[in-house]
Amino acid sequence: MLNVVIFGKPGSGKGTQAAIIKDKYGLTHISTGDVFRKNISQGTELGNIAKQFMSKGELVPDKITIAMLESEIKGFMPCNGFILDGFPRTILQAESLDKLLVNLNLKIDLVIALDVPNKNLINRLLKRGKTSGRSDDQSKEKIDIRLEEYDNKTKPLIIFYENQKKFYSIDGVGSLTDVNIRLVDVIDSKCND
Ligand code: AMP
Repeated sequence: MLNVVIFGKPGSGKGTQAAIIKDKYGLTHISTGDVFRKNISQGTELGNIAKQFMSKGELVPDKITIAMLESEIKGFMPCNGFILDGFPRTILQAESLDKLLVNLNLKIDLVIALDVPNKNLINRLLKRGKTSGRSDDQSKEKIDIRLEEYDNKTKPLIIFYENQKKFYSIDGVGSLTDVNIRLVDVIDSKCND
């Protein structure tokens, strides 16, 4: 079983790469952003709460996000492994994830960050906003808030996972194929350790 966290700032390409990795290694892809967006489109209670935060570019509160992720993971068990995209995004989320996985006799094997400079991210997100229909991609102000949320709440996870000797970072600039090759190299070298 292989459990991977794909990590990075908004617009770094996590979702795109996770979708390719999922097929290559037969993993279950959980994107917390996608689960929230599905709930918003279905008008569920969870969606209504999440929307209030997502539309401003803020993180959804930990309690809600952790409960949702736990139910997703349990719902997909048993499986070959997970690729988590957009989770964890806070230290509390990472600690809760570790606890949940211990209870299920599982662990995170690798955390791989896609490293992309802010300048490229802002251009990518504004471009995506023209077709994605995502309200949080529409303005530079909202994108700036998402990047601030990353710096304040998500970046500390780098040290958290470095301490667990699970953190790897790859250059996330380049073609989809080039980035994918770098990602697969890290996964394969780690799996063959
Ligand atoms: P994403 O699709 O990963 O870019 O996520 C879009 C938005 O969903 C984020 O800006 C947050 O508002 C919310 N979200 C997704 N994952 C999380 C998470 N792990 N914790 C809190 N909020 C999240």
